[in-house]
Amino acid sequence: MWCLWRRDGRRRGLRLNLKLGLSSAPPGGKKSPRVLLVALHQSYRVPAYQMAAAALGARLVIASQGHHSVIPAIADGLHIEFDKVPEAVERIVASAAREPFDAIVASDDLTLEVATRAAAALGMPHNPLSAVCAARRKDLARDALRAAGLPVPRFRCLNLTQDLTPQISGLDYPCVIKPLAMAASRGVIRVDSSDELRRMLPRVAAIVAEAVVSDERDRVLVESFLPGAEIAIEGLLRGGRLHVLAVFDKPEPLDGPFFEESYYITPSRLPPAILDGAIERLTQACAAYGLREGPVHGEMRLHEGEAWILEVAARTIGGDCARLLSFGAGRSLEELVLRQALGWPLDLDPSGGAAGVLMIPTPGAGTLRRVEGVLAAQQLPGIDELLISVREGYELVPLPEGGSYLGFVFAHADTPAEVESALRDAHDCLNIVIAPSLPVAMPAA
Ligand code: ADP
Ligand code: CA
Repeated sequence: MWCLWRRDGRRRGLRLNLKLGLSSAPPGGKKSPRVLLVALHQSYRVPAYQMAAAALGARLVIASQGHHSVIPAIADGLHIEFDKVPEAVERIVASAAREPFDAIVASDDLTLEVATRAAAALGMPHNPLSAVCAARRKDLARDALRAAGLPVPRFRCLNLTQDLTPQISGLDYPCVIKPLAMAASRGVIRVDSSDELRRMLPRVAAIVAEAVVSDERDRVLVESFLPGAEIAIEGLLRGGRLHVLAVFDKPEPLDGPFFEESYYITPSRLPPAILDGAIERLTQACAAYGLREGPVHGEMRLHEGEAWILEVAARTIGGDCARLLSFGAGRSLEELVLRQALGWPLDLDPSGGAAGVLMIPTPGAGTLRRVEGVLAAQQLPGIDELLISVREGYELVPLPEGGSYLGFVFAHADTPAEVESALRDAHDCLNIVIAPSLPVAMPAA
């Protein structure tokens, strides 16, 4: 359940209706296209794709493990199981035989395989499966980048079920331990010595034990820590060509030991030559993985005059941050993803201003009592929306174990510096009241 405050007092639902009313017909007056969204049941991304499809005049079919379509008036449903990939692909192919799909998109990392295989079976543009795997798995990604001759930190995969002593000998410090395929910096820890590495590994082991895919539960990656500023680039690939939608600065230093995301500000304030180098590096990384189609979210560190890839995911930016793109690109990110998948012109129309988000840091562990100062924060100049995504009474789990966001603050202004200071002021207004979570003693039976 999300609580949303808008500065202008409008409700989110109103915006949905407004958007639905604005449906633009497909180019050339053709029949409205049929688009398949392969989505996890209850994915927070689904409503955004529904709005985008409505805005484009497309009919959305949602393939998911849910038995019913989310909003039957807007989207049809196709029931599939993600752990039965061949059957899921067969169902999609059978549905396409009744009426062809004009595009297939995946909502999240975990739905990419089904979407990719289905697109391949139907002869539609898609990424090679190996590219999708490299984009999801950090060890495969590092192998692909190194094989392509791109700069990568020294890295090693540790098998947690085997004796660690020989596996960690000769490592350079500081280094970073990370799960093979998690997100939102969950389980990512900087360690400065072998003692610290040994102390932290059980903590990461407990986190990766929860990995959805079984062969990601007993291994972790360890790689050299790269000091330097961090940026993120949101892009769309079409036929191997990268269209950059936005470059985000992350103005808060991310030096560890944990790496909580906070500020994302676009456009970047870095010099154009550095930005060009970073974009070129992302293009090379996509080619190294074999990615050619669809959204990419790249994160990199600027270190020793080079842009070093931290990761390139074959999906859109996470959390609710996708909304920022409507400032950078003039259209919602999901609309752009659908346009790309449909082979339509992207028609990017940047607004020219600056925008940013603060992913509200989780200040500690415990039960969320309340968030004070919301009204004051949302009334600050430049602040558009403040969203608290954890309900009162729920448990807050900070990094490295937790991986969900407490909430988001969105801002826009003329310059990135104004956006950043609006977000920092908004953060200063907030007082997050947390009660310690007490263990519950069960009475003896
Ligand atoms: P996730 O997929 O969970 O987001 P990332 O690989 O992106 O994991 O790592 C999360 C964060 O950890 C990065 O945004 C960065 O700040 C930090 N980080 C990861 N690897 C390194 C590294 N080799 N050097 C420095 N910082 C790193
Ligand atoms: Ca990341």
